[in-house]
Amino acid sequence: MDAQTSTFPETIAMRIGEDQVVTDRTSPVRDPATGETIATAAYGGAEEVERAVAAARASFDSRVWRGRTADEKSRILWRVAELIDANAAEFAEIERRTLGANRMFCAYQASNAAECFRYHAGWISKIHGRTSDVANPGANFAFTRREPVGVVGLITPWNFGLMAAAWKIAPALAAGCSAVVKPALETPLSTVRLGALLAEAGVPAGVVNIVLGGAEAGAAIAGHRLVRKVSFTGSGATAKHIIAAAASNLKRLTLELGGKSPYVICEDADLARAIPAAASVMFVNSGQACVAGSRLFVHRSIYDRVIEGIEQVIANIKIGETSDPSVMMGPLISQAQRARVTELVDSGVAEGARLVFGGAPLDRPGFFFAPTLFTDVTPSMRVMREEIFGPVVCATPYDDLDALMPELNDTEYGLAAYVWTRDLTRAHRFAANVEAGTVLVNGGRADFSVPFGGFKQSGWGQEHGQEGIDSYLETKTVALGLAG
Ligand code: NAD
Repeated sequence: MDAQTSTFPETIAMRIGEDQVVTDRTSPVRDPATGETIATAAYGGAEEVERAVAAARASFDSRVWRGRTADEKSRILWRVAELIDANAAEFAEIERRTLGANRMFCAYQASNAAECFRYHAGWISKIHGRTSDVANPGANFAFTRREPVGVVGLITPWNFGLMAAAWKIAPALAAGCSAVVKPALETPLSTVRLGALLAEAGVPAGVVNIVLGGAEAGAAIAGHRLVRKVSFTGSGATAKHIIAAAASNLKRLTLELGGKSPYVICEDADLARAIPAAASVMFVNSGQACVAGSRLFVHRSIYDRVIEGIEQVIANIKIGETSDPSVMMGPLISQAQRARVTELVDSGVAEGARLVFGGAPLDRPGFFFAPTLFTDVTPSMRVMREEIFGPVVCATPYDDLDALMPELNDTEYGLAAYVWTRDLTRAHRFAANVEAGTVLVNGGRADFSVPFGGFKQSGWGQEHGQEGIDSYLETKTVALGLAG
């Protein structure tokens, strides 16, 4: 793949064991800014998953990866990070062409993916068990071993394909697992490129296998008896299929799902920071972000000022084809996604919300939708309850933050929550009472050292931090009788 000319090989191949695999079936990869097909990807199903799982299992049994010393594995993951950095421009361009997001977000994906491999390279030498001589001291000695869970299935969405792949592959490798990775149909190219860099860095063939395809391949991974764990990022609807399929062999599951995150601006907030930050959390990647702050709650005393400020920010968002570096917002990923956003926005209007800005697809090629601001929303409206996954924000005034809390938490989701306040007590109370896996106060940012995951229907388990590594490990207890 060539970043300068943005040309892609004829058919993007899967990577199974030593082989580059193409199939009779293919799937188009489109540029969402034009709707045109820019590449053709191989399309795999149950047969390719079977081959990939067999290759992964063979690599796991041979210990070709997990049997290496911590230092060897760590150096290889660090090398992956270096290679991502060295190819960052190409990765950013691949993501930009297939996802349509702006250059800054696509460049961030590459640097974040590299950071993820560096973070997990450091973990490898810190994975170890503990000892105990509590029962019959001197005569009995017990210890634990941390062992890789086995072959893992890693299924990712299209809205940040490169980062999502890194967030799963890096800890899986750090733990010593072998993997079958399946990126989303819409954005497979960056994961395929990452697969090539893993090989170049020294990850042995068969340890990370990449199957391209959609629901059929995903379902085959979720149902496979030799896959011991699935880490999935995507929609709740798909997660329910995965849970059902995973029951067949009681797979371990990590599920990173959708959100409807509250974004609260208190009366004492630093508005010069809070307003632009709000707009960026709401409209990053055209609102196609699981952590989008899509429900905006503003203290009544500053409500009009904030709404005016958000309107101004929206009015200044330059929309278009993101090859232009000054463009801030690109298209939605697909025709289907645009139809879904349109339907939900129309439901908001029909249910009586006031459209302050935007509200419709843009009349141009590609899948663009105008950044949209609703006011006069009520908690029961669909726009307030369902994840829209588009550039749509619903704003409501409030009088008392404690009294608001039940409404904030009245959602099936619980991924992220944002608050802006200078009052430390209020910030702590908000953090303690809001039902969300991540709480960001005054623009705080989490990193790989702390876990990321969802409460309620936003997910099961966490990625990143110790929790992330633990989810790829089993604990084995060994007891030695020392007497006699
Ligand atoms: P999706 O559920 O449609 O697809 C996700 C992945 O699952 C894709 O690779 C898809 O091919 C695969 N898949 C589809 N059907 C399957 C099946 N039956 N069995 C197994 N795999 C199957 O989601 P999407 O539209 O790609 O992504 C958007 C969703 O992802 C949103 O809900 C968003 O909030 C969520 N998301 C969550 C996080 C998070 O970390 N919590 C991050 C990004 C996106």
